[in-house]
Amino acid sequence: MALDFASLARQSGRDSSSVRVPKGPDQPDSRVIHTLGSDELRQPARRVGKVDEATRDLARSMLRSMYAARGIGLAAPQIGEALQLLVIDLDPDEAANPPLVLINPTIHASGGELCAYEEGCLSIPGVYLQVVRPSRIDVSFRDAMGRPQRRKADGLLARCILHEMDHLSGVLFVDRVSDRSTLETELADKGFDRDHVRPMT
Ligand SMILES: [Zn+2]
Repeated sequence: MALDFASLARQSGRDSSSVRVPKGPDQPDSRVIHTLGSDELRQPARRVGKVDEATRDLARSMLRSMYAARGIGLAAPQIGEALQLLVIDLDPDEAANPPLVLINPTIHASGGELCAYEEGCLSIPGVYLQVVRPSRIDVSFRDAMGRPQRRKADGLLARCILHEMDHLSGVLFVDRVSDRSTLETELADKGFDRDHVRPMT
């Protein structure tokens, strides 16, 4: 998993270098991240037409907001932009490792085992719950320069891509939690209204 991410990051390093921002929580221009209950999180995101400097500006803004919030992934709808754009950085403390930018991502196949793993989300701060997802994916996307890419991913990277892609359909990880009683307790503890969950099972 770490190796996969390292090679994927290396391959995309030249492309994403055009959108890199300094890492760390001290960010001058971070955006507000919408939280559970906001309509912005439930809108389907539009595909990005032309990948241009405005797209890269948005990606930089998303990276700053993600680093400021100490996250490892962020989807554009979380900052109120209904576009199919994701940023991911599984190594936010490692300045040398470039982040990933995925534009218009499409899953071609998923497989491996179905794994349960604890997830959190910058839009539902403080809530961490087990979610079942496939362990391997095959994903295509455009990079920050607009070039088509296709990659296999597994482990945490696969999970992170699937979690962020859910945001593009207006789906949140709490919608996928099968343990309803733990979910309701966690949400209440952190001050969220369970009526904002849209259970998928
Ligand atoms: Zn999320």
